[in-house]
Amino acid sequence: MIIAIDGPSGSGKSTVSKLVAQRNGLAYLDTGAMFRAAAWWAHRGGIDLDDQAAVEEATKEMPFTPPLDPLDQTFVLDGVDITSAIREPSLSRVVSKVAVNLGVRAELLRRQREVIAAEQRGGFSGGAGIVAEGRDITTVVVPEADVRVLLTASEEARLARRAREVRGDASDAAIEATRAEIVDRDKADSTVSEFMHAADGVTTIDSSALTIDQVVDAIQSLM
Ligand code: C5P
Repeated sequence: MIIAIDGPSGSGKSTVSKLVAQRNGLAYLDTGAMFRAAAWWAHRGGIDLDDQAAVEEATKEMPFTPPLDPLDQTFVLDGVDITSAIREPSLSRVVSKVAVNLGVRAELLRRQREVIAAEQRGGFSGGAGIVAEGRDITTVVVPEADVRVLLTASEEARLARRAREVRGDASDAAIEATRAEIVDRDKADSTVSEFMHAADGVTTIDSSALTIDQVVDAIQSLM
């Protein structure tokens, strides 16, 4: 079973994808975290994120195996625990520079397909399968997935959710501070992936007025 879930920042993809994976005994792949890890790795190597060739080379050498347990998403890169560092607002503001690098995309696509194929044979899930989430999973990474979902939410809902998550509240100041991490990032990301409108065969679920459980149930009903 392969479940592909795409959507913009703050749509609730990660929360929902982990729950769907847990409920069905599947592995969970957070592809956004792979782009975040690539940005962290290049930055640590002193590479200018605008130097596309150097960032591509660094990504090819990145010694990174993504965690696949939906209950333990600890990211370790070259012996360093980067779990919180890759969620820092300062990294969220620059990750798109890495994501629009086509050489990086090709390398991470290769690694993502490798993980997905391994889960069909065995791997963390013992062959049960995987939930993979990101921006181009339903369209580029595994368009042949058994379940393909585009998870959307209104801009207000997405901003409020991320402000609460990163800054602890959804006050006007917190929302304004979050805007660059959501709206500007989606704008940059949408130059390389289409994740605001569903492709043929992809089911759109608008989570603006749904609880997390309702979204999980909606995805379960597609299986
Ligand atoms: O999902 P998350 O917000 O963690 O993703 C971080 C960044 O990784 C996105 O802003 C986007 O630039 C990039 N990304 C991507 N393709 C994916 C997943 C994430 O370009 N499949």
